[in-house]
Amino acid sequence: MPDYAKLMEVGREAVCAAAIVTNQVQNALDEVRSLTKDDKSPVTIADYAAQAVVGRILRERLGDVILVGEEDSAFLRDEDNAVFLNATLAAVREVWPEATADSLLEAVDVGSGDTHHRHFWTLDPIDGTKGFLRDQQYAIALGYIEGDTPTVGVMGCPNLPVDMSEPLDVPHEHGCMYAAIKGVGVYEAPCDDPTGELIRITRLDHVEGEPISVCASVEKAHSNVSDTDRVLEHIAKTHGIEVGEPVRLDSQAKYAVVARGQADAYLRLPTRRGYVERIWDHAAGCCIACEAGAFVTDIFGRNLDFSHGRGLEKNKGVICAPPRVHGRIIEAIEALGIQPAG
Ligand code: AMP
Ligand code: MG
Repeated sequence: MPDYAKLMEVGREAVCAAAIVTNQVQNALDEVRSLTKDDKSPVTIADYAAQAVVGRILRERLGDVILVGEEDSAFLRDEDNAVFLNATLAAVREVWPEATADSLLEAVDVGSGDTHHRHFWTLDPIDGTKGFLRDQQYAIALGYIEGDTPTVGVMGCPNLPVDMSEPLDVPHEHGCMYAAIKGVGVYEAPCDDPTGELIRITRLDHVEGEPISVCASVEKAHSNVSDTDRVLEHIAKTHGIEVGEPVRLDSQAKYAVVARGQADAYLRLPTRRGYVERIWDHAAGCCIACEAGAFVTDIFGRNLDFSHGRGLEKNKGVICAPPRVHGRIIEAIEALGIQPAG
């Protein structure tokens, strides 16, 4: 059996280091943009830098790991993109001063593992790219998958306030991090201090009759807005309870917001025909929310199945909520006959 405590500890160290780098790129977005004259470049740099930092630390501390990362080094290896390579190198040196172009490229490619293994890590180096560019929420999301399930999840949310009374759309100075081991629990810690105290969190089920608060993507293309409204209206009418307008935030931070009891549900209803959710967009968040006591399934109530390669091929959409609310959402989806497009 893997040493789960060690996997979580190393995952945390890796995500913390990556967050220091992405934070720094975010603070210098204008500068980086002017350097590269391309709006996409800051994302690229921060994505590659975060993947390299995580890949390097996992390899160094755990040996021959399999890491399935969202990025690969092909773009940075292209001579025409030397300016991006140099900017990425400058970014990683904040936490890895001796990095060279070669060692950086090698570290990015630690993430080129494939999913044909019984267990492997998966990484979204910057989940919620649009949030990252808007200076709002984004996440560095690292999950360890065994068979069809994530068993370790570490998610750094560099801009998420730990204090739930603070607004979600204002970037927080320290951010917070969530780390979970399946069957053991989920912990909260500062995002910028790998030695900070881990505090165990759990959430209560929704209390009958209390209002329901939900969260969803900022990006309208990522989750079906009109179906979400229909589901919420249906629940409000059928159960005579107040259901608030969805709070919108980018990235897997939505799973954390449900895990810590700030929202009662995260709805991600399918939009365009044939879209398959990516494993790195859900592995860490799914583990974290489940360990806090939420259910995480697709819109038909099926568990997310991580055993079909890089996509959640057997699932449609995502519903994450504590048991009572989860049941109501699945009932509403069924009653309204909501089906994925196509
Ligand atoms: P969010 O920040 O929750 O809106 O999710 C960001 C993630 O949505 C990105 O990492 C993309 O992988 C993913 N994504 C891109 N297109 C779609 C789509 N049509 N439906 C659902 N998710 C998508
Ligand atoms: Mg993503």
